[in-house]
Amino acid sequence: MSVSKTGKISNDSILTEQDGTSNRTDELSLSSISPKDKPWDKHRGFADRVQSHYAGSKFDKYEQRISFCSQLLEFGLKPAEDDTIRLKLRAAKFCRVRHCPVCQWRRSLMWKAKAYKVLPKIVEKYPTHRWLFITLTQKNMPISKLRDTLTEMNKGFKRMVERKIFPAIGWLRSTEVTRGRDGNAHPHFHCLLMVPSSYFSHGYMRQDEWVSLWRDCMRLDYDPVVDVQAVKKGINPSSLVPELLKYCTKESDMVADREWFLELTQQLHKMRAIATGGVLKEYLRELEEEPIDLIGVDDIEVGGRLRAAAVWMEVAGEKIHPSKITV
Ligand SMILES: [Zn+2]
Repeated sequence: MSVSKTGKISNDSILTEQDGTSNRTDELSLSSISPKDKPWDKHRGFADRVQSHYAGSKFDKYEQRISFCSQLLEFGLKPAEDDTIRLKLRAAKFCRVRHCPVCQWRRSLMWKAKAYKVLPKIVEKYPTHRWLFITLTQKNMPISKLRDTLTEMNKGFKRMVERKIFPAIGWLRSTEVTRGRDGNAHPHFHCLLMVPSSYFSHGYMRQDEWVSLWRDCMRLDYDPVVDVQAVKKGINPSSLVPELLKYCTKESDMVADREWFLELTQQLHKMRAIATGGVLKEYLRELEEEPIDLIGVDDIEVGGRLRAAAVWMEVAGEKIHPSKITV
């Protein structure tokens, strides 16, 4: 078997039983045979670090669960038209720990896939409606106050949605928590709002009006930062999906400080990451729950005996997913 310059496996170079070399295997790193699968190494690498943060803490059980997460990946191989082979994940064990970097990534992929599938249907049903992407924030606070703050933000959001002036008939909201340089937490909501096209002629809200609405609903004594973007007419809101459904806390923030991360785990326990409302609820409610499937089922038919397996291990001082291609 050989790998082309583009990192793809050449179809005709895979050994077959007919050439008398049954069960022969070659080992290559997963990212070299399938560049699109590079993220596995990155996320599993962060998972190692998150796992060590949990070691010896009151979340010790998470350490064990993460240690087994995505250690073995099994792929089916599908010959592609350009005479290369594509890998398609067929089996893997996931730990489903909330802050496992691998599981967070898989969850986000599944949510995004669902949103990409459903949003065009919503656009079809509401062709004249327009979309807004707003980010609602408030002042940073010590991580120990995160849970109380998010509870207040949830209440504030609910008050906002119930206001007559609130223009959206449907919304999708995700929560992100970042870590400031000073160690404070910065929770914010990313929201996709569906508004009637009349919003731009009657009832249009300027950015400063959004600020005072959020300030009022949050009962703050200062002007919070609110970012408002309108999606151009005729542009599908799918373009906002990557920003909207990425992750709750980015990996570099998770591994920056152990105490901060352990407190984050405590503070976010059972707090919902995604919420939906109005007419979007019936389409996107599924996003409020943990995806049942983290593998990603699709309709790609995968060749019977061609199989690749990748195991997370250290090779020459570097941890990667080396792969065995078995025919
Ligand atoms: Zn995991």
